[in-house]
Amino acid sequence: MSTKYDIVVIGGGPAGYVAAIRAGQLGFKTACVDQWLNRDGSHAFGGTCLNAGCIPSKALLESSELYERTKHEAETHGIGVGEVTLDVAKMLERKDGIAKQLTGGVQALFKANKVDGIAGTGTITAKDTVKVTPVTDDGEEQELKAKHIIIASGSTPVELPMAKFDGDKIVDSWGALEFDEVPKRLGVIGAGVIGVELGSVWSRLGSETVLIEAMPDFLPIADAAIAKDAARQFKKQGLDIRLGAKVSKAEVKGDEVVVEYEAKDKTETLTFDKLIVAVGRRPETAKLLDGVDVKLSDRGFVEVDADYKTSVDGIYAVGDVIGGMMLAHKGEEEGVACVEKIHGEKVEVNYETIPSVIYTMPEVAWVGKTEQQCKDEGLDVNIGSFPFAANGRAKAMEQAIGQVKMIADAKTDRILGVHMVGPYVSELVAEMVVAMEFGGTAEDICLIMHAHPTLSEAVHEAAFSVHGRAIHAMNKKR
Ligand code: NAD
Repeated sequence: MSTKYDIVVIGGGPAGYVAAIRAGQLGFKTACVDQWLNRDGSHAFGGTCLNAGCIPSKALLESSELYERTKHEAETHGIGVGEVTLDVAKMLERKDGIAKQLTGGVQALFKANKVDGIAGTGTITAKDTVKVTPVTDDGEEQELKAKHIIIASGSTPVELPMAKFDGDKIVDSWGALEFDEVPKRLGVIGAGVIGVELGSVWSRLGSETVLIEAMPDFLPIADAAIAKDAARQFKKQGLDIRLGAKVSKAEVKGDEVVVEYEAKDKTETLTFDKLIVAVGRRPETAKLLDGVDVKLSDRGFVEVDADYKTSVDGIYAVGDVIGGMMLAHKGEEEGVACVEKIHGEKVEVNYETIPSVIYTMPEVAWVGKTEQQCKDEGLDVNIGSFPFAANGRAKAMEQAIGQVKMIADAKTDRILGVHMVGPYVSELVAEMVVAMEFGGTAEDICLIMHAHPTLSEAVHEAAFSVHGRAIHAMNKKR
């Protein structure tokens, strides 16, 4: 017996569950199949984002920041707090509680939108058939028939052959959210987004943290000036960032992990209590296809056209599994767009205005082109910047660090990119995404009133600075 659906989504992460909800809203009979199992063997929708990524890491980033600021900043505010103590178990319990609430929310939304959420591994056995293999004791094998199948199977951490995960001493980003005590010496391979976020968590809680990064530059995807400013702040906080350092060996010896890396023709050896490997993620396609010729790229991503159609009629793919920026919000937009396209609507995802955020302290956020990209494309630009040191709200918050940098086309004044490092820039970047979506200019931002005193005034002033007329800072001679 098989159940018939209009749309079956494989994968219940941000791309998949959002696609399923939108499909339900549009009146499609929809199922979402997901194989995620938590450590206790329970199934949950929400994928890596809700269970082992974005949300739990933000919970620990918040807790660890509060701990560090209470320890080091309370006195500055004239607040005496006595001895500040740490209960790691409670911190992890809070994190897990938040994830549970949100994954429960997905279940409730499925119900409200008449989506059948099915726990199990989905395998496409024909262009209109998904076989579900149970992952929980109470599950059973089933066959689903579908007019349309959407692959949203996500991605998993890349494992290094010389530093294989053992789930205890050498862990991936999920394991790094579950240390039951603060490691005294923590190593992180990869100073990318995950490396700096998780390195920050444990460093704030007391770990001596070393980030080992193969590339010669720090955060090469960010604007160079912003990356430099961020690196300065992170180093000040005690993160030991080693650039141009390629790990050649990592070996568990008793209670320790010994890591060797090559830097400037020299081999260095470091010893840690825990090692996090955060060197990127790869598409998850294991057990996904059986006898169906969905084309994968050389790197294993599902290949799609502009309508998210794969090489097989009726099968689509969205999110991390199709490559591009591996971000939850990019996957969500694709999930919605894919379903609406199936529904016959004309929709497009604007890949030029995907915001990027690194949730450190200070945060790093940007949208659009970096200064270097503008140079490489031969664009003539005007650049303005404004330091948070001159922003009243940031001062009052004791977080007057970082800057906003705005790049605008020299002829049209159209905003090409905005790059920030500073307090809550994850929120400030949204204004710039809107501005760029509307084809806004630096002048437009100048003419828009920004509340005082707010952090958003730094964005306002950066726009003024593009025209050499910042009010609360010196303007560079032009
Ligand atoms: P990443 O690509 O951001 O960084 C990996 C880093 O590891 C790179 O800088 C790379 O040069 C380095 N590296 C690779 N091999 C190495 C080696 N052998 N030795 C030393 N360094 C090495 O990947 P990530 O940090 O693992 O994150 C994975 C994905 O998840 C990314 O696409 C990221 O955007 C996404 N993510 C986003 C957020 C966010 O938006 N805040 C948070 C977490 C993850």
